[in-house]
Amino acid sequence: MNDRYAVIGNPVAHSKSPWIHAEFARATGQRIDYGRIEAPLGAFARTVAAFRAAGGRGCNVTLPFKAEAFALATEPTPRARAARAANTLRFDGEGAGAAVAADNTDGAGLVNDLERNLRRPIAGRRVLLMGAGGAAQGVLGPLLEARPAALVLANRTAGKAQALAARFPGSRGGGYDAIAGESFDIVVNATSAGLTGGAVPLPGGLFAPGALAYDMVYGRDTPFLAAACAAGAATSDGLGMLVEQAAESFFFWCGARPETGAVLAALRADG
Ligand code: NAP
Repeated sequence: MNDRYAVIGNPVAHSKSPWIHAEFARATGQRIDYGRIEAPLGAFARTVAAFRAAGGRGCNVTLPFKAEAFALATEPTPRARAARAANTLRFDGEGAGAAVAADNTDGAGLVNDLERNLRRPIAGRRVLLMGAGGAAQGVLGPLLEARPAALVLANRTAGKAQALAARFPGSRGGGYDAIAGESFDIVVNATSAGLTGGAVPLPGGLFAPGALAYDMVYGRDTPFLAAACAAGAATSDGLGMLVEQAAESFFFWCGARPETGAVLAALRADG
């Protein structure tokens, strides 16, 4: 019987993860089945326990359960511990006392997409991260490890950005007014504004010459990417991050590292 995995979230109907992991399994010769499970709000732990009792070996976790997933972990990786959020769980062993290993692969996914796929080195560059929610929390540590010249966090609720930056020495955070007059080489939109057609406030002169604007949202033209394009910046959505974070999760479960290029190209061709 194949090992069972799933993505657990609310909602998950739109998730491309089952297709991505099926492709990774085919390419690496791993025998896995990967499904989608929508957990009712307030019932994440119960949903995970039922999946595990039914033979689940691990899962991806998406909105809005990443903090709850971290709370279930008995063996978090250092990057999951730093993020205080997990997007990947692995169930090691059975019965009482069995371990729940947890990882957060969002940051590695973003850094790999920026540096390998988009050929945008982070070292020595000025990076702005907009948003201070679950996604921003997961990527701050890996972005800092890539040694940017500056890592600035801006959020609608300024206090959240300040509190998050205080957890990651080397970054600083505040409201959008605090970045007036500054310019950046890489601007990452980690807000969910684009999902609802909302726009983040972009001060004039935000994009340095040759800058990249990156929206973690994928599969749609967001107001952020449209404004960045109009300001002369190069743009990318977050599809590459999705594929790269999936590859890290796959490695965490199976110990095999899948190639991502063909999977990303196929998703892009699919529109
Ligand atoms: P979250 O925890 O709900 O946080 C949402 C963030 O967006 C908060 O900082 C919030 O600001 C801000 N925000 C929401 N609407 C806004 C608006 N109209 N104007 C300005 N700021 C606004 O969500 P999340 O988990 O961090 O996810 C953020 C986005 O990243 C989602 O769209 C998600 O799909 C995407 N994502 C993509 C990948 C990928 O692999 N590509 C991975 C992870 C996440 P306040 O604090 O002021 O409310």
